[in-house]
Amino acid sequence: LVSKLPDVGTTIFTVMSQLAAEHGAINLSQGFPDFPCAPELLEDVHQAMLAGHNQYAPMPGLPALRQALATKLAQSRGVTVNPDTEITITAGATQALFTAIATVLHAGDEALILDPSYDSYAPAIRAQGALPVRISLAAPAFVVDWDQVRAAVTPRTRLIIVNNPNNPATSVFSRADLDALAAIAKAHDLIVLADEVYEHLVYDGIEHRSVLAHPALRARSFAVYSFGKTFHATGWKIGYCVAPPALTAEFRKLHQFLVFSVHTPTQHALAQYLAEPAHWQQLPAFYQARRDLLAAGLQRAGFLLKPSQSTYFQLADYRQIRPDLSEVEFARWLTVTHGVASIPVSAFYGDGRDHKLVRFCFAKQDSTLNAALTRLSALA
Ligand code: PMP
Ligand code: GLN
Repeated sequence: LVSKLPDVGTTIFTVMSQLAAEHGAINLSQGFPDFPCAPELLEDVHQAMLAGHNQYAPMPGLPALRQALATKLAQSRGVTVNPDTEITITAGATQALFTAIATVLHAGDEALILDPSYDSYAPAIRAQGALPVRISLAAPAFVVDWDQVRAAVTPRTRLIIVNNPNNPATSVFSRADLDALAAIAKAHDLIVLADEVYEHLVYDGIEHRSVLAHPALRARSFAVYSFGKTFHATGWKIGYCVAPPALTAEFRKLHQFLVFSVHTPTQHALAQYLAEPAHWQQLPAFYQARRDLLAAGLQRAGFLLKPSQSTYFQLADYRQIRPDLSEVEFARWLTVTHGVASIPVSAFYGDGRDHKLVRFCFAKQDSTLNAALTRLSALA
């Protein structure tokens, strides 16, 4: 076998979660909640199973779930989406991302990605025989220089991937960002893949602007979402992809042979749960309290913080604590000697640059965050 990804190792999220487990550390590395998902949602899954919804769902996803998503998009974003031709239910955002990338890219094509970027993008591009062209955003602002993006386009560029809100930068695109993205995509006939899994986790009254609500982008974008993020159930691995009919038709050609369809009873339950807008509208207040708890404690421990605007992550600069260590060394040291696991931000960059930043996850119970902060107080 000739490896397609010879230099790819185990994802940093697995590496750090394993290290945390080995050393009995509190795991603020991999992003997942440590509190239960809504009992009502669990009950709905159980009832769907008892009602006999245990066989294959239709390939694009349960019609009732796709209809519930179309209704949500109409109500929350004023966007009209045809549930039959434009929404596909996937096995998490990861499968939607991989499928969209494989749908668009041919061998020899180029795809632009903006670093810091989620670690699945570049390997998924390379698995198609295509080339990721990475543009590094500078900390701490992580603002996109759209002239730099434009300059990176070549005749082989087919796709640009954006993650908004951004994990781990926690930045959120402005209207001007979306306009600039649209202008570049239109001028060079690029397809856009918008990873919007953190669409509902945006704080301090900041607005998340979706590509779906931007007509020029809507016409050329795949937009990807995750119920795992929104409803505290990352282990369910259910998400969806919204794209215009022509893009969705091609996406489904691959989707049907990758997974065919995804877990049926959960789709029934989600269709019901989506009927109540409070289920996602309450998320900013819910997470903002946890963000503020973690931020205050990290500052007391000596970290310098970039305020978290979105996602359930907090970036922390440790140069006042151990300036001698690289991000990977620091994350390891903190796990092994202080019992708190984090993620080195260099894992989100192709060029290995070291900002002396680590990422902590605050999707945790107050008791977990307080226990971690007690351990970290030894640093001050
Ligand atoms: N995109 C981003 C930016 C993420 O942070 C994650 C996971 N946390 C995913 C995609 C994958 O989502 P899923 O677990 O639904 O596959
Ligand atoms: N997206 C999650 C994070 O950023 C991890 C998902 C995974 O472990 N693959 O931490």
